[in-house]
Order: sequence, then structure tokens, then C-alpha cells
Amino acid sequence: MEQMRNLIGGQLVPPLSGQYLDNFNPATGKVWSYVPRSNHEDIANAVSAASKAQKEWSEISIDERAKFLFRIADVIDQNCEELAALESKDQGKPVGLALSVDIPRSGQNFRFFASAISQFSSEAHIDQQWVNYTRRDALGVVGCISPWNLPLYLLTWKIAPALAAGNCVIAKPSEITPATAYRFSELIQDILPPGVLNIIHGRGDEAGEAIINHPEVQAISFTGGTATGAHIAQTAAPMFKKLSLELGGKNPNIIFADCDLKSAVSTSVRSSFANQGEICLCGSRIYVQKEIYKEFKNEFIAQVEQLKQGDPSDNQTQQGAIVSKPHYQKILNSIEKAKELGGKILCGGGPWEQGAKLGGWFIKPTVIEGLSISCETNQDEIFGPVVTISPFETEPEAIKLANQSRYGLASSIWTQDLARAHRVSKAIKTGIVWVNCWMKRDLRTPFGGTKASGVGREGGLEALRFFTEPKNICLEINE
Ligand code: NAD
Repeated sequence: MEQMRNLIGGQLVPPLSGQYLDNFNPATGKVWSYVPRSNHEDIANAVSAASKAQKEWSEISIDERAKFLFRIADVIDQNCEELAALESKDQGKPVGLALSVDIPRSGQNFRFFASAISQFSSEAHIDQQWVNYTRRDALGVVGCISPWNLPLYLLTWKIAPALAAGNCVIAKPSEITPATAYRFSELIQDILPPGVLNIIHGRGDEAGEAIINHPEVQAISFTGGTATGAHIAQTAAPMFKKLSLELGGKNPNIIFADCDLKSAVSTSVRSSFANQGEICLCGSRIYVQKEIYKEFKNEFIAQVEQLKQGDPSDNQTQQGAIVSKPHYQKILNSIEKAKELGGKILCGGGPWEQGAKLGGWFIKPTVIEGLSISCETNQDEIFGPVVTISPFETEPEAIKLANQSRYGLASSIWTQDLARAHRVSKAIKTGIVWVNCWMKRDLRTPFGGTKASGVGREGGLEALRFFTEPKNICLEINE
């Protein structure tokens, strides 16, 4: 079985500790490879390599830098099938999803920021006697830390803008899903100058913590859980590091009686259960207006029951395995808690027996009815194939329900009334609102959450602003 390595200074090297973590296949529950258990020494080496590469990388022309990024995008595209198979084996996601979304989007992340950097401009303010202009220079060495749900997709979403803006990167993928990041580091090892991109594997409380604490790391772009984000913010604040935090969610999906019911139902099935509900943007609280509650519920359940659960490597599979045993257990506990609280299980409600026979961690898509808005099922992020469904009567009530959450990442609204769509979108306190759609992602838009869902925005020019330091230069015009 393969031992993965770290990419440091252009070389693939084992961790200095000589220690490895087991890497599991969620569909079988078996160890299939080993992840470096890196520590502060590996991070120190990576930062040193990055610091050496920094000046030259930030000084080459934008066109030259973009060429590197386009080449990386091409390499991802050329290896799409292999990377998708790896992602599915490592994460438990259906291979069809990895092939159609995760890996193409990873390539697109590089292609997008390779182009975006050529459009990145800064302000000039001209007065009669002075010109003020803003330089936006690279920050230096930056840290990019990503989670396990969309492993290569989210890692590249951070790395690409950081590199495009002229920074050198210390990236740490999740130790639970390291495989595509490792294969990616093999594929691009000879493309970038040594030290420009370093990919270090290991636990969050060891390698991750070392990145946050390293004095030469100027900024941290982090995607992961809210509790981890709070800890990172606390650690980094006294060092005045720039932070972008993309955290958890508990997203409302509001279905008004005047919606196009057919598309509301079919999209809600996807927005609830895509990637086994392990997408931060999944809608996990469905609120349906009373007039159509029964009709929506019956059709929704009928379609959820049709979802094909199975081996993630099978192209026909729509529901794969849960990423890890602890997470599987956590989701099952949440379902049991919902039952204790009086929730009525409309479908699913426990493990998928056939999957369990294979040794894997599978949970049936689960829909729960009859719970109060304030209970923990409706307030805590479950991050699995579990949604609740509840009726509402009026528009103000729907808005109140949507906002009754410590999170504020994304929401969906289903209505044919344009004025209502604008009103409700404005009133809902989330960073993203989808009207009559879900998960349509235009990479130019600001991406991120409010409240406990995070601080800052990624995407488009927002990401390039994050990864640069603005400096005002004031010139006197002496005629
Ligand atoms: P996590 O917070 O456990 O881990 C995320 C990353 O942080 C991993 O690489 C981990 O090793 C690292 N980490 C953990 N502790 C650390 C520490 N002390 N210092 C530095 N790094 C540390 O999250 P997860 O379980 O991998 O991911 C699931 C969470 O991510 C969910 O809450 C989900 O909503 C969220 N998420 C948010 C978005 C978004 O864009 N807002 C996208 C995807 C996932």
C-alpha cells in the first residue's frame, strides 16, 4: 500500500517524523494507503522553501504566472478520470459526481484565476495636485487549509488565487482525504518552480496548527468547521495575520406555494442529498408553505426513495458512503437524537444495510418531520444525508424561520413572484441566496457566509484582494 509524501521545495519527501496515518476507503472501511503525519519541522522546511521562491515568483510577469496556471489546469483535465476515481475511493462520493463536478471544477479554478489576474486592477484617485494610486502586492508566504468534503475542488479554489496573485503557498489538505492532493502534487511537481507550492499532509492539530503559528505565514485561507475556524481566529489574531474563514452552515430551503413545484422538488432532492449531504451549501432545513406542504412532501419523499445508493465507484450510484467512521457515527447519533426529540422519520433513518455488509459507512437519505425550529436537529450542522421538513404559513414567518440560526452561509427560495424573490433575498441573512435554483456557481461572484458561517469572501476579485496587500501611494503633481 502506498505511502504518500509531502511536496516541499519541488521534491516529494517523507515526513521527518517517519510517522504515517491510516487512510481509509469509506465504502469498505479498510485502510488502503498511508498519509504523512507531518509536524512543525516539515512545515518549517516548507516555509523556508516558499520564502526562497517568493521574490522571483512575485516578480515574474502576470502573463508568465498565468501560463503556469493554465498548464496546471490542462494537467488536471488530462488526468480527470484517474483523479475522479481516486476522489471517489478516498471520500466515498459517487464517481459520477467527481467526474462531472469535483475534478473539472479543480481545473477550472486554475483556468479562472489565470484569466482573472489579467483583469485585476486597482484604484487611482486623481485630484488637482495629487495622484493617489493603490499597489496590490503579493502577501508573501500564505497558508491554505481545506476540508474533506470536496477535497481537490476546495484545495485548488484556494491555491489558484494565492499563486495567481504572486504568493508562495503552504497547502494542507484534510488528513481524511489526502489522495487527490498527493496525486496532484506528483502531477505538477515539475511544472512550478521549486518552493512556489508546497503541499504538506498531516493532522490539523499538528501540521495545521504549525502553519497557523509560523511567523512567516502572512495569511490563512481556511475552509472547515466553525469550531476549528474559531480556534484559528483566536490563535492568529495576536499575530495580526490576514484570515479568510469559510465555515459551517445550516441552510434553509424555502418553498413558497407559488413556486414551480416540479423543479422545486427535483432540485431540493439534489440540494439535500448531493454528495450524501456533505456539501456546506446543501439545504438541510426545508420549509414549505402550508397550501402545498402535503403535495411537496409526498413527491419529495417519492423521489428521495428512488435515489440509487451503492458502491461509489459505480457510475450509476447517486448516494455513496460517508467519509469516515467517526462522521458516520456522528450522523447516526444525530438521527437517534431527532427520534428522541419526537421527530417522525419519513424515510431513511439509519444505516444502509447492504453497504454495512461490505464494511462501509453508508446512511440512507433521511427526511424528518415534526421538530421544533429551536431543537438541535434544526440548529446544529449535521453535514450528512439528513434533512428536516416543516410547514409555514406566511412570508414573514418563512423569513423568521430562515434567520433563526447561528449560521448564515446559503439559502434557497422557490417562488414565481419576482417582487417576493427580491424581498425575501434581501431579508435573509446568508452570504448566498439561490432563487429557483441551487449550486449555480459563477466563479466571479463573492463566496462566503455571515455569522458562524465565516468571515471574508472568496471567489473572483475578492480572492485576489484577499491574497494581496493594498498600499496607497500618493504623488504630488508639481507643475
Ligand atoms: P475541520 O475543521 O475538522 O478540518 C478542516 C481542515 O482544518 C483540515 O485540513 C484539518 O486538518 C484542519 N485543521 C483541524 N484543526 C486544525 C487546527 N487546530 N489548526 C489548523 N488546521 C486545523 O473540518 P472538516 O470536518 O474537514 O470539514 C467539514 C466542515 O467544513 C463542515 O463544517 C462544513 O460545513 C465546512 N465546510 C465549509 C465550506 C464553506 O465554503 N463554507 C465548504 C466546505 C466545508
